[in-house]
Amino acid sequence: MEFLNTNAANNLGIIALTIVGGAIFYFFMRKYYTRSDKSERAELQGLKDETPKTFEPLPQPDEIPWFERLQKGLGRSSSEIWGKLEKILTGSTLTDDAIEQMEELLYAADLGPLMVTELVMEFQEKVKDGVLKPYEFKLFFRDFLHKRLKNIQEKANPDLYTFDPNNKKLKVIMVVGVNGAGKTTTIGKLATKLQSQGAKVIVGACDTFRAAAVDQLQVWCDRAKVEMVRAKEGAAPSGVAYETLAQAMKSGADYCILDTAGRLHTKENLMEELSKSKRVLAKLDPTAPHETLLVIDAITGQNAIRQADEFNKTLGVTGLIFTKCDGSSKAGSAISIVTELKIPIVYIGVGESVEDLNIFNLNEYLRALLNLPT
Ligand code: GDP
Repeated sequence: MEFLNTNAANNLGIIALTIVGGAIFYFFMRKYYTRSDKSERAELQGLKDETPKTFEPLPQPDEIPWFERLQKGLGRSSSEIWGKLEKILTGSTLTDDAIEQMEELLYAADLGPLMVTELVMEFQEKVKDGVLKPYEFKLFFRDFLHKRLKNIQEKANPDLYTFDPNNKKLKVIMVVGVNGAGKTTTIGKLATKLQSQGAKVIVGACDTFRAAAVDQLQVWCDRAKVEMVRAKEGAAPSGVAYETLAQAMKSGADYCILDTAGRLHTKENLMEELSKSKRVLAKLDPTAPHETLLVIDAITGQNAIRQADEFNKTLGVTGLIFTKCDGSSKAGSAISIVTELKIPIVYIGVGESVEDLNIFNLNEYLRALLNLPT
């Protein structure tokens, strides 16, 4: 009897333990499986989330509107040149001394001699009969510059900055310029922008002489989730250009953007190499490249005109990209190049982030430069 009682007590104990254990197990499993987040579940398992992170996260865009960026970027040009001119030239009758200071400031802004002469003459004509108010002064400069730039700016190709999904024609863009001008960064920004509009973009890293530039471009392309074609260090740049275009045609890309070398042993070597790349592209598509864009660092000043002239003579530049306008008060060189070479500015850069590159809009530019109200 006693034996039976002990057995029954043992059985009851086992049953009770099983129920309690089962209940604990049930509550644990319920908690575990209702946590949908993978990393939380991994945390419960005592493991790290092993989801591969292939791309570096994109820098978070801050919310500063473009016009404010442009205004801030052109702030130095605006205050150091146009602000000073306003003080000298408004509010009292025009003296010879004021005209002399005006000329000095315009030269300091890197406006070419021809334009300075024209500007001074028109200005004298304008104030012949009286005193100019600050507001009128700004309108005078805006109208003067607008008149000279408008027709040239209208030649800028809209395909360059706005992707039209109905236009399936591949656009081949060759980007040229001296080292340090901002080619690589600009291509990175451009590829990011076009890709975010839904375009399929392929980038060719044709500056095979600079491994660091290729790596830098790779980082931009990875971030933008854009394909990049690269070759071994020292390979022929024209070969990479050819391969990139062939790949772009095969995969039905909308844009094929080619980075190029900015420096070789001699200027002649560089120009020959760039012309060769151009010729090689034409083997695949006789109309390619459709655009040859020259990147110019705004700090370069008057030298920029000489540089642009050389690139233009060899390659036939179709558009200009002015970078680093945030670090320079020499906005005048941009105006001189446009008027002298009759090539439009297509993009303007006022900083290092993607949002600091945008389409060049003449009205907006003059408004920011001269600090005019909207
Ligand atoms: P590349 O040699 O022509 O390819 O020139 P990079 O693209 O390497 O640019 C040279 C430097 O200029 C880099 O440090 C860029 O971040 C910087 N840069 C490019 N565009 C701008 C710009 O609009 N503003 C400023 N402040 N820096 C820029």
